[in-house]
Amino acid sequence: MRELREAIQAHGVGIGKDVVKVDSFLNHRIDVALLTKIGQTIAEAFREDRVDCVLTVEASGIAAALTAAQALGNVPVVFAKKGDHINVGADVYTAEVYSFTHRTSFTIRVSRSYLSEGMRVLIVDDFLANGEAIEGLRSILRQAHAELVGAAVCIEKGFQPGGKRLREEGIKLLSLATVEAIRDGEIIMAGED
Ligand code: 5GP
Repeated sequence: MRELREAIQAHGVGIGKDVVKVDSFLNHRIDVALLTKIGQTIAEAFREDRVDCVLTVEASGIAAALTAAQALGNVPVVFAKKGDHINVGADVYTAEVYSFTHRTSFTIRVSRSYLSEGMRVLIVDDFLANGEAIEGLRSILRQAHAELVGAAVCIEKGFQPGGKRLREEGIKLLSLATVEAIRDGEIIMAGED
């Protein structure tokens, strides 16, 4: 998606060899016009997939999940919660996720009442790196006997294996922008996505 690639190039910061910081428009401050376009682009790709629900992980996936769900006709968004919130209750599906950015594992939880058997679910997230977050969400969908229609991410880091693995499994994956490498703080983008 051209607008997203341009935003990454104009405002993204490369940290070390493998972290892309996009706080100014996606992860801390949110560019609403850009996120609206992101949602519309995701919805166009999954329009025929009869999506019942969009699933993401708090907090940074919620913005794109929300605009995608809105563009898909106001289907609900469910976001997996991190940590052991008392208000999530005990009747939950859980999965362990290793966080690339926090370098530690945590448990994600989704209330059983928000996913049901046969529900057609689109996973949306901000980044795809090693694929751990999406794997955790897929595990929750399997527990609920819900159906994964595909996954959409704003930014795929092509030098990490998550995207390749999902494609090899035959999962419909939409990446709106792909970062090929980070060199001396410079973010190297792939061409057209
Ligand atoms: P994965 O689970 O695919 O290894 O990593 C994806 C998750 O980690 C996303 O939910 C995202 O929040 C976070 N993440 C991974 N890489 C980056 C990155 O380079 N920058 C930012 N801001 N978040 C990242």
